[in-house]
Amino acid sequence: MQFTISTGRHKECIEITEQVRSIVRDSGIERGLCHVMVLHATAAVIVNENDDPNIGVDLLNALDGAVPEHAGWLHDRVDNNAQAHINASIMGPSETVPIEGGDLVLGTWQGLMVVELDGPRASRRVEVTIVPIA
Ligand code: ZN
Repeated sequence: MQFTISTGRHKECIEITEQVRSIVRDSGIERGLCHVMVLHATAAVIVNENDDPNIGVDLLNALDGAVPEHAGWLHDRVDNNAQAHINASIMGPSETVPIEGGDLVLGTWQGLMVVELDGPRASRRVEVTIVPIA
């Protein structure tokens, strides 16, 4: 099952927990694993706190410090977005969340998020794969 989101900034964290949760509930699967993958090379999927939006800002600032933009990266000669590719690789394109009782198992403050690293983009595709466990 696939859904799309649009992003409004060059870099931002966008919560997708409710979109994924509704796919899990509609599947009717009571117990299993839910794999969530963004289908782009300059975005990532993470699980992090969804209460304070400054955490997403802090994350992006920390990554900017660790991987400076336009620091002589070879890929910048192609389309000038090497930092986005590097940070997407560091965080990874996917997360796997347990399903119990027909719902995602997440901590109180945890949410699933797409991290946009080279936006804004009209359409970012997210693939959700549910694996039932007997
Ligand atoms: Zn590129």
